[in-house]
Amino acid sequence: VRFINVQKSYDGETLVVKDFNLDIQKGEFVTLLGPSGSGKTTCLMMMAGFETPTHGRILLKDQPITDLPPHRRGIGMVFQNYALFPHMTVAENLAFPLDVRRTGKAETKEKVQKALDMVRLGEFGDRRPGQLSGGQQQRVALARALVFEPELVLMDEPLGALDKNLREEMQFEIKRIHDRLGVTMIYVTHDQSEALTMSDRIAVFSDGVVQQLASPRDLYERPENAFVAGFIGENN
Ligand code: ATP
Repeated sequence: VRFINVQKSYDGETLVVKDFNLDIQKGEFVTLLGPSGSGKTTCLMMMAGFETPTHGRILLKDQPITDLPPHRRGIGMVFQNYALFPHMTVAENLAFPLDVRRTGKAETKEKVQKALDMVRLGEFGDRRPGQLSGGQQQRVALARALVFEPELVLMDEPLGALDKNLREEMQFEIKRIHDRLGVTMIYVTHDQSEALTMSDRIAVFSDGVVQQLASPRDLYERPENAFVAGFIGENN
């Protein structure tokens, strides 16, 4: 994924993203980190093709993302609120993105089971989301984002609704899946410790500008300005 001189304004006046440049390698885990309102979600939405840049270009494998219809982009998404269909079972929720892609019945069944096993919910296919805990629902959302074997997974504060212990467990779980599948992951959070634990690289945002793009270690040891030093040093 490449962002080239991307700017975004919703109202034609204020730029909520100002000249964003980022080149993400296949298999990388990149986090967009910054305070609320700094433009992280907007960047993720543009990456997903849900919002269009006001200026600049976003390329997926050297092609403008909007050249492809959504189900051909190979992008899975996970949101803070899980966004599961409440009236469907867990297995039906996972089958949905495969149905959209016209996958056959037998293959769907196999892929759904594989994805559920991956998030350790192999026995939960017949339940409805309302019968699961928050952590389990987020595992289902993660499985649904992975079930069609995407090349890119976008996550927007996926652990924001979970308590601290569960959050740490899920951070580990997501990293395990990332390492195992080698899938590219882009992760939005305002939680520094989460970003430092999970990422290959972190883009630190404030006011629509990337203040620094670096590995967790470099950010911690060599912050380029006072904002980065302060933000990385803060404890949640
Ligand atoms: P948060 O963590 O709170 O979601 P964020 O860093 O992800 O923050 P964005 O959600 O990208 O930031 O918001 C950046 C700015 O753009 C904010 O000022 C917000 O009010 C504005 N904004 C976001 N989405 C829209 C929209 N659909 N229409 C108008 N303004 C928007």
